[in-house]
Amino acid sequence: MGQSAKPTRQNRTITVDFQEPSTYLQLMNDGKAFVEFVFAFLLSLGFQLAHKATCTGGGCLTRHSHYARIRLGGLTIWRIQCTSCKAVFTVLPHFVLRYRSMRPEVARDVLLATHGGLSLELCAVIGHISPMALYRLVCAFGHQSLVGVLTRCGLPLPTYILADEQHSRCLTERVYLPTIVRGRVLWHLGYSASKSAAAFTESYGVFQRAALAHEPSYQVRGALTDGFDSTVSSMRTLFPGARLGFCLRHALNKLPAKLIGVSASVRQGLRSQFHALLHRCRQRKSLRVVALGQRLRHCADRIATTVGEAHGERVRQWFQNKKAGWYTVLAAPQMPAMSTVLDQAHNAIDRKLFAMKGFHHPSGSQAAFLTGLAHLYNLIPYQRRAKNAGLCGVQVEGGRVPTSDWMLNLQILTSGGYQYAPDPPNH
Ligand SMILES: [Zn+2]
Repeated sequence: MGQSAKPTRQNRTITVDFQEPSTYLQLMNDGKAFVEFVFAFLLSLGFQLAHKATCTGGGCLTRHSHYARIRLGGLTIWRIQCTSCKAVFTVLPHFVLRYRSMRPEVARDVLLATHGGLSLELCAVIGHISPMALYRLVCAFGHQSLVGVLTRCGLPLPTYILADEQHSRCLTERVYLPTIVRGRVLWHLGYSASKSAAAFTESYGVFQRAALAHEPSYQVRGALTDGFDSTVSSMRTLFPGARLGFCLRHALNKLPAKLIGVSASVRQGLRSQFHALLHRCRQRKSLRVVALGQRLRHCADRIATTVGEAHGERVRQWFQNKKAGWYTVLAAPQMPAMSTVLDQAHNAIDRKLFAMKGFHHPSGSQAAFLTGLAHLYNLIPYQRRAKNAGLCGVQVEGGRVPTSDWMLNLQILTSGGYQYAPDPPNH
């Protein structure tokens, strides 16, 4: 017994909204009433608790659960034990951050300022805390996976995804942030020191494993990339059944680079023709590969007669390499055609990495830090269009959040003790 490796204890903290600290203090003296309150809160969320795999208790606490009070950093905390599997849940009131002396109001202000792109140092000044405390706070939220949090909000795993890498710097080294986006939501934000196919496969594989743990039959049906070799090959390795498309806007932006030495106005004119070609193809209900190939050939011929055979040939080669990926986008209406929302996510994340570059060091907890930033991106309301005013990315994509307060949602959703509830409770 003494020789066996100690299993890592699962974090079963649950953050519970008691509305007012005084409510919590009142309930402090009455264990039965306390358990009733927690019970009602769980029902209102429709969440299940992460019991042990062997539990026969139905995933919920009962009124007969055991409970005990402990002192934690000057505050009295209740622990509730499932009578069936003996799993112990630590109940954290909403006005306390797990293991942190920072008050949630302070955390709320500095996280919002961070999300807005203000430097780490200035965010820390706002909250009278140290920049390192803020860094660690973001990392703490990032210990819960994006897949875990998003599925708790009832979002289905994405069947069509955008995948691309943000380039960044860690001190003087180039680093890459492999990213998966669906609509307004980041599903993966990884960190890689190399841009090899193996490194990207490793990073995107973290998302795949989390998704399969949630839903063993999960499959990606289609992925849009910008056509970068390592990305394409990592998608092929991880999601062999998926259709791979190449971003059309990326294609448009790439064309001028194929025409080096040609005057800007002529390049612009040829780009417009290419744009019109792709636009017409997108509007057609059905498009055969032959038709796209034919149009691309004509386009390359026109380039050859306008600016010379050498340019025509270069563009012809490029079309040849990319056309299958473009065709995939044009042929499948569910496929995203452009990676615009992914670029927007990258721009938002890039500002924060720049603001935090002093903490972006080789021995830092990049994975947790980036995941923490991604939670902020998904859960903080944004106001780009009036239709979505006050909503966060998760809600725009059709997900449910526990409360109308993003900070409370962040605390509740990143609590380790909750798990996805496939069906609404039948009480
Ligand atoms: Zn149990």
